[in-house]
Amino acid sequence: METTQHIIARCKKLISQPEYRNEYLIRIKEKYLGIIGYFSNYIPEEIIAAAGFYPLRIIGCYEPSKPSPHSLYIPVCSFARDMYSAASSGGLSYLSQVVFPNSCDSMRVFAQMWEHAVNFPPACVLLHPINDNSNAIQYFAEVIERFAGKLHQDGGNLITQTRLKETIDTYNQTRRLLRRLYDIRKINDTFLAGSDAVALMTAGLIMARDEYNQILSQIVNQGPREIHKDRKLKRIMIMGPLMDNYGFLSKIEEFGGYIVYDNITNGSRYCDLDVEIEGNLYENIARRYLTSGPSPTLNSDKEISDQSFQALIDDLDLDGIIFINQKFCEPHVHKYLAEADILKQMNINVLMLEIEHGRVEVDERDMLRIESFLEIAGRS
Ligand code: SF4
Repeated sequence: METTQHIIARCKKLISQPEYRNEYLIRIKEKYLGIIGYFSNYIPEEIIAAAGFYPLRIIGCYEPSKPSPHSLYIPVCSFARDMYSAASSGGLSYLSQVVFPNSCDSMRVFAQMWEHAVNFPPACVLLHPINDNSNAIQYFAEVIERFAGKLHQDGGNLITQTRLKETIDTYNQTRRLLRRLYDIRKINDTFLAGSDAVALMTAGLIMARDEYNQILSQIVNQGPREIHKDRKLKRIMIMGPLMDNYGFLSKIEEFGGYIVYDNITNGSRYCDLDVEIEGNLYENIARRYLTSGPSPTLNSDKEISDQSFQALIDDLDLDGIIFINQKFCEPHVHKYLAEADILKQMNINVLMLEIEHGRVEVDERDMLRIESFLEIAGRS
């Protein structure tokens, strides 16, 4: 059986080594009608998989295959700029199509520029609502059903109820296993380092789903690995948009932090809630995607989100929170400002850092800030 260490090493290569990832995807591609790349947690993977395509979350390190004649400019966030540069130089040409969310301004600019400067693959925008009430769920269910019809036209596979139930079940399994992993790590700081857990989560957005469910179930059913034994660790939660730079997170661990939980796009917000399997499946998918771990681009009820945020903080018994934002990500700066007030009232130390997506080395200044933060975290 493959060891956990080996699995994590493979996950890290999938995220950080474009060549390794491309070879993996080219091998996989033959078994599917094509690979559909997408951005954001609002694109239902179940639908893409049920139509016979391979859903690939575009995340991680992408090297432009040749110098790009175009670029996106500030204030577009560093993630969108990085991905645009890879796409416009042909680095995503192995995809059959790309699906954009209707989320933030950076993604909107990116989607518009795709039409002008990236000729292949073709792209579309999935117009999900920005509210999560019953009318919005109904509307989104219709959008998803039309999207399913489009994929049927593109690939020829009709999405039957049976097929859709099967794929929902597969994705529910992933979400359940990931939530179990979070529950174990909340109470056991020797189970898996936070940087390894984020690498494992992120690789799942790239890896074939059956293979991923199998390695996840192997990991959650094993005993803890012996790590972090020599000193008392500070219990830290990380927050922000996507964070696929696991090397950055391992710096937090080197300075004595244990990343016990996260509230990031490629983390707990991805695996929150299952899709119900009874009733109208399109409505069930719409409900799950609009009501699970809300992103700040969604207009959700502030009182309810604040209450569940406070309950989470109470439950985690934290020494501090490190908020890691992608440079020029506006929605998450607003989220940070709103939640910093709550954290202040709860006497929780917070550190805010801004990073450039795709930049592997950790800035010397950030290292110093992390080190001093961990020194004082938990003292107040
Ligand atoms: S990092 Fe922020 S600004 Fe960039 S795509 Fe994600 S939500 Fe939008």
